[in-house]
Amino acid sequence: MSEPIKHIVIVGGGSSGWMSAALLSKLLQGRVTITLVESEQIGTVGVGEATIPAIKLFNHLAGIAEADFIKATGATFKLGIEFVNWKTVGHSYFHAFGALGRQWEWLSFYQYWLKLQQLGQALPFEHYCIASCMAQQHKFMPADANRPQSPVSEIAYAYHFDAGLYARYLRELSEQRGVVRLEGLISHVARDEVTGHIRQLLLDDGRQLHGDLFIDCSGSRALLLGQALGVGYDDWSHWLPNDSAWAVPTEALTDVPPYTRSTAHSAGWQWRIPLQHRTGNGLVFSSEFCSDDEARSQLLAGLTTPPLDDPRLLRFTTGKRKQMWWGNCVAIGLSSGFLEPLESTSLHLVQTAITRLVNLFPDKSFAQANIDHYNLLAATEMEQIRDFIVAHYKVTQRNDSEYWRYCRRMQVPEPLAQKLAIFRAYGRVHRVADELFREDSWVQVLLGQGLSPNRYDPLVDLKPEAQLRDFAASTAAVIQSCVAQMLKHQDFIARLMAST
Ligand SMILES: Cc1cc2nc3c(=O)[nH]c(=O)nc-3n(C[C@H](O)[C@H](O)[C@H](O)COP(=O)(O)OP(=O)(O)OC[C@H]3O[C@@H](n4cnc5c(N)ncnc54)[C@H](O)[C@@H]3O)c2cc1C
Repeated sequence: MSEPIKHIVIVGGGSSGWMSAALLSKLLQGRVTITLVESEQIGTVGVGEATIPAIKLFNHLAGIAEADFIKATGATFKLGIEFVNWKTVGHSYFHAFGALGRQWEWLSFYQYWLKLQQLGQALPFEHYCIASCMAQQHKFMPADANRPQSPVSEIAYAYHFDAGLYARYLRELSEQRGVVRLEGLISHVARDEVTGHIRQLLLDDGRQLHGDLFIDCSGSRALLLGQALGVGYDDWSHWLPNDSAWAVPTEALTDVPPYTRSTAHSAGWQWRIPLQHRTGNGLVFSSEFCSDDEARSQLLAGLTTPPLDDPRLLRFTTGKRKQMWWGNCVAIGLSSGFLEPLESTSLHLVQTAITRLVNLFPDKSFAQANIDHYNLLAATEMEQIRDFIVAHYKVTQRNDSEYWRYCRRMQVPEPLAQKLAIFRAYGRVHRVADELFREDSWVQVLLGQGLSPNRYDPLVDLKPEAQLRDFAASTAAVIQSCVAQMLKHQDFIARLMAST
């Protein structure tokens, strides 16, 4: 019988390190010891503040109470993303979480909408989606499961939060559960001569750190998996050419919107993430198509509140490690790869990596088939998310800069090319297994970016037109009346804070 893993060492105290510590210390309580080492000298990337709804599951599994978390991290609620200037300059659309319209017999709502739109009898798509309507009016409420027939039962949301406060909050929680934190700089990684596995870490003050399983959360430097173990990197820059970002905090917005805004520029895009106490902003761009100074000026010109600091420049390479688990080392977070934050998926990838590791938890034999399984699942997940992000660039009508002309011309990965062809034919969405982005997301983004199907689903024509009109009109009316009764997002947060 092989021996169980008894000691886990986590390298890095950014969001991925502390998320790993918080969840593993909860799920494996008392069965393993966990040590986390981080270096204030190096610091963290300090961004990563917008999420997707699955973060609620992470918080739940980690034993985090929502009101507590919102207070501790200055969080606000997020119903989706507003995309401005992505299809054409001056156009905008919303990618909302949760359901779009109502299912009616065989088909999803948007198929009926496609026909009504062709007949000139449809309102804009957003009117049929409760989250978009709430976002437009800066309203918020969580789903009400006691009203199963109402669209309010289907409200889905995520959070915006302060990355630094989140890491601090998770650190307190983890330390209460016995995680040992070491402050120190790792200067050497010693490997076993036979297996090549990591044996111990040496800190620059001479301390030694032994472990059975090492989790590399050291950020984009990938200190363990990349530098020490030499696992290579698949570069995806030809599909996602952005490689830099300026980030700057600004004053808080009044009447805080419950959504992220993404505004496309001539060679990249700008994010605006509203928190309770400040606003996170940044401009992601391609250094091949835009100078640092030009990008910085565009960011500052696009701010909606005054800056609180000087902008900070970050560099990255889009792609993933060839293996995210090798031997006794698993990379989680930026060390495992990076996809730009357009759909706020990085922290989600951290979350799924931790749960995948728990599901495929090893013993000291580190069975290779188990490691291969982990790597296959991790790579597939990341490739699927990559394709969703690439679609935002490929499907655009923008022609006003060399950057956008490059994006329109580029060859996309084959699975995405197939998806686009299938959507173009009858507006159908082809998804594989448990792909993260569901039909509703693909539909909103593809329609929003300007990809109109040649034809709607032929089954739509089996419904009389008058019934279609009534169905769509009543859907929009019910949504409007629900949203009219909701609190403003700002007031909802104030009430929640007052109750904690
Ligand atoms: C521009 C930008 C915007 C982003 N926006 C979003 C977003 O909106 N939503 C989202 O989900 N994600 C976003 N991300 C991604 C997100 O920021 C990261 O996934 C997340 O912060 C996790 O980072 P990390 O913990 O892996 O790395 P880091 O934060 O870089 O942490 C690395 C840690 O390793 C430690 N370390 C490194 N070397 C050593 C050493 N030698 N010795 C000791 N310690 C060491 C450091 O001290 C630090 O604690 C964004 C990323 C970028 C670049």
